[in-house]
Amino acid sequence: MSNSGTAEVLIPRSLCLIEDVNNLITNVEDLCSVSISWEDGVVSDLKPLKNKVTKPKNILFPRFVETHSHFDKSFTWTDFPNLESNYEGALSENLEEHKTRTTDKVLERVEKSLRLAIKNGYRAIRSHIDTYKNQSIDIWIELFKLQKKFSSELILQFVALAPLEFWDTNKGEELAKIFSSRGGIIGGVIVPPFNKKYIIKLLSKILLLASKYKLEIDLHIDESIIEPGAGIRVLLEVIENLKINSIPITCSHLSSLISLSHSEILNLGEKMAEKNIKVIALPLTNFWLLNRDNKNTSLKRPVAPIKQLQKSHVDVSLGSDNVQDPWYPFGNFDPFYMLSCSIPMLQLSPWERMTLSSIFLAPSRLLNLKWDGLIKKGCPADFIILDAQKWADVFSSNLQRKVFIKGKLHS
Ligand SMILES: [Zn+2]
Repeated sequence: MSNSGTAEVLIPRSLCLIEDVNNLITNVEDLCSVSISWEDGVVSDLKPLKNKVTKPKNILFPRFVETHSHFDKSFTWTDFPNLESNYEGALSENLEEHKTRTTDKVLERVEKSLRLAIKNGYRAIRSHIDTYKNQSIDIWIELFKLQKKFSSELILQFVALAPLEFWDTNKGEELAKIFSSRGGIIGGVIVPPFNKKYIIKLLSKILLLASKYKLEIDLHIDESIIEPGAGIRVLLEVIENLKINSIPITCSHLSSLISLSHSEILNLGEKMAEKNIKVIALPLTNFWLLNRDNKNTSLKRPVAPIKQLQKSHVDVSLGSDNVQDPWYPFGNFDPFYMLSCSIPMLQLSPWERMTLSSIFLAPSRLLNLKWDGLIKKGCPADFIILDAQKWADVFSSNLQRKVFIKGKLHS
């Protein structure tokens, strides 16, 4: 199949780096009309469409980047439903699932998730994998094999999501060592209430381990409605005490921050930006699980304060989190499902640059990908072309899409 082609499309203006700006026609929704050509899997030409009469019938996006998912438990909802749908119920069903977990079951879920994600238009994904002491470390060998098997179609990053104590054991050190040669990220959960001294001790160990093996850290932190910002404050304190500034750290969730005052959020945001801590907002699971009251409808939902953090120069990405597991019963590894829910929920306007940054550019930076996601001459011909002419078409049903991987139509 050919890996060359040409198309007349609309592209969000802030995702399009074009030389001939003067002739570019951009509509009221900030979509610009361009002609794009690609050869041998690379964009070879990108120029404005000058004809104002015929409007392109398609919108083009770069393939998406998912910053936060849980491939190892996807599609377990049917066997481990959490009908109360609160955080405690999710955790307890999750632990039940661990009892029946085998390497084969996990690999099957990961492969199913990968195929769906590729088909739906992702080019890179970071997935957390539940990690615990009595689990065989061999599972990682198999996971790395799968990562390699799909590497021509999708970049897959793994985070070992373990209890913080795990990283203070020989097994934790052994895994960190494997990760230093194979890739892999240290993960954990910090949710209040907690013993501050104890968490400081464990977090310090983790930071030192990451520093020793040159690993990144990605924490589920402050996914809570109580003690707003307690986790991030401790993390900042530990970083300050250890004077380690070189470890890339991601804070996933940070939902409780929204209960702080405006100036407290900006203040914490500035400290995070200073330490280059990146944030992933996960509105779907947060809105579903947190502050749940099954008798009363309430709009009080914690979620990372995206706009305030961006204002403090924190790089914020939007992620999906769980798919059809005890933590979240819906989803299908489809970026348009996630966006159709999140964009109206969070009042993020898709025609604004900072919204598109949190969907395309910040995630590319977070996963440290070679391509930043901007459509330009010389970029990979990795896109999704939709039967759509306006944002309403993008976030409505029956979306027809074509996914191109290195210029080839994926089928
Ligand atoms: Zn998660």
